[in-house]
Amino acid sequence: MPSNEGFDRKTFENVFPKTCTVCGKVYSTCDEFLSKTSSLDRGDLSQGPKNSVLAYRNCDCGSTLTIKLEDLRDYSPEGIKRREEFRKRLKQVKETEGLDDQEAVAKVKKEMGF
Ligand SMILES: [Zn+2]
Repeated sequence: MPSNEGFDRKTFENVFPKTCTVCGKVYSTCDEFLSKTSSLDRGDLSQGPKNSVLAYRNCDCGSTLTIKLEDLRDYSPEGIKRREEFRKRLKQVKETEGLDDQEAVAKVKKEMGF
């Protein structure tokens, strides 16, 4: 799944198959959904209710489809602190080592034992 910060998210089991209500196209799996839709200019993800994240993708027909993902982030004080450290370290790694987002996330995740 696309991720802005490198933290885990998973799809709710009942999300797929997902049908486009406009053109009737059916996406049977998450992989298929992601490979056959395109991302939006303004970004794919937004915070949903409780522990959920909403992902937006454009269908071939041009309509926007939304799927709800389970947000596996830890909202305890320790979890929040850990995310702050993660972000700080991520910025550092990108600035000092010139890594791109994906490389930097992988490196910091490894360092912090994710
Ligand atoms: Zn469609």
